[in-house]
Amino acid sequence: MRRLLVSTVIVLCTAANGALAYQQDPNTLDIYFLDMVGGGSTLIVTPLGESVLIDTGSLEPKHRDADRMYQACRHAGLEHIDYLITTHFHSDHFGGILELTKRIPVRCFMDKGALPPRHEQENKQFKQLYALYQQATGGNVERIRAGDDIPLRNDPSAEIPQIKLHCVVSEKQVEGFSGDIDVPIEGFTTKKPDTSDNGRSIALVLTYGKFKFFAGGDITWNVEHHLAHPVNRIGKVDLYQVTHHGLDQSNNPLLLKALNPTICVAMNGPRKGIQPNTFAALKALPDVKAIYQIHYNTQYGDEGNTSGDLIANAKGQEGGFIKVSVGPEKKIFAVSIGMKRRRKWFQIQ
Ligand SMILES: [Zn+2]
Repeated sequence: MRRLLVSTVIVLCTAANGALAYQQDPNTLDIYFLDMVGGGSTLIVTPLGESVLIDTGSLEPKHRDADRMYQACRHAGLEHIDYLITTHFHSDHFGGILELTKRIPVRCFMDKGALPPRHEQENKQFKQLYALYQQATGGNVERIRAGDDIPLRNDPSAEIPQIKLHCVVSEKQVEGFSGDIDVPIEGFTTKKPDTSDNGRSIALVLTYGKFKFFAGGDITWNVEHHLAHPVNRIGKVDLYQVTHHGLDQSNNPLLLKALNPTICVAMNGPRKGIQPNTFAALKALPDVKAIYQIHYNTQYGDEGNTSGDLIANAKGQEGGFIKVSVGPEKKIFAVSIGMKRRRKWFQIQ
């Protein structure tokens, strides 16, 4: 589905919070990191106007996250969402799905094809939220396995770069690795097997021409190890969605070094991530030019906060998104915060 208006340079969209004006290039890839206050939701709008929403934030407070996702869709000029991918079944990643589908239709639902471990299935909150998930999807969900591509459309004339969204991890299966990810490896720090659904999360790589983006959901340390070693399976990325909100049980430095990102965006909350070890590891990466955060981190002061101009929601604020735009055949991409459009440009590596 194409965007509502693709040929004009200045497009006026009326969002739920009023009229907005923004610049739109029909061949641009846009990625929106939405403020779910410590939850996850990332909206991708492809150069041909298809849309992918990765995760749907939380149910409570009711309507907050669904309204924010819907507003971002309106801002992007979307009439529907083509693919809605749920990375895993934790309340901060799939709680808002039913309320969202009441606001905007979804063409195709996708998930990892398995429920959380038994001890999480017995959780009262999971039972409540999974009933809402089933209501939203009608049970019609496609399974994504490591190695699968999400079938995005490409320009048949190939005048603009090809876009590809590829799954590298699902249900603790790492593409290209057939062993048990939790077996200790001599010479490396491995952690106890993650028995939560975080470790079973879907991880995705999006490429558009030379631009590369890694979104790992909430995968944890041992899974990350096998993405980086002995083979660097993803390679260098331009954009890194800081895994698991920036928590230290994820963000294995081995993978951070392998990804060697230019820009990092953390989907943290005021009291959830970025934790000091992860923040220090990100800052130490050789090519990192900026670390963006969705929220000011009230827990760790300078050990968990980037500079103020890179934080979408400073103290007391809420709801601002971070937007990354990648044009065709350009060697640069733009990052801006919320509606204020404080845009910075970075080199594609
Ligand atoms: Zn999470």
